[in-house]
Amino acid sequence: VVLGGLLELEFRGVAELRCQMKSLRVVGQCTCGCATVDLQADKHACPPSIASRPIPAEAIVSDEAGNDIGGIIVFLTEGYLSLLDIYSYDQPLSSFPPPERMRTILVDR
Ligand SMILES: [Zn+2]
Repeated sequence: VVLGGLLELEFRGVAELRCQMKSLRVVGQCTCGCATVDLQADKHACPPSIASRPIPAEAIVSDEAGNDIGGIIVFLTEGYLSLLDIYSYDQPLSSFPPPERMRTILVDR
């Protein structure tokens, strides 16, 4: 869900990432207590992406009061989706927040 929102933004290499998302599996989880997950896409199903790593689409996460508390970034390995990373300024975020508490942005890289 989170990733889908990020890949709705337009940037170089996004078409390949949308293709990869269809075969994406979660293959690991961060051990610090946050919701960061390792991802694996089927490399036979889609070509690699030329997007930068991390990709230029990010999300900013806010709390119920509307304060920014962290963000979400996506990393690629050799052009394939490999890590959905959620970071925080304070306590680790143990789950991905509901859509209304995230806003997606495009950053220049
Ligand atoms: Zn972690």
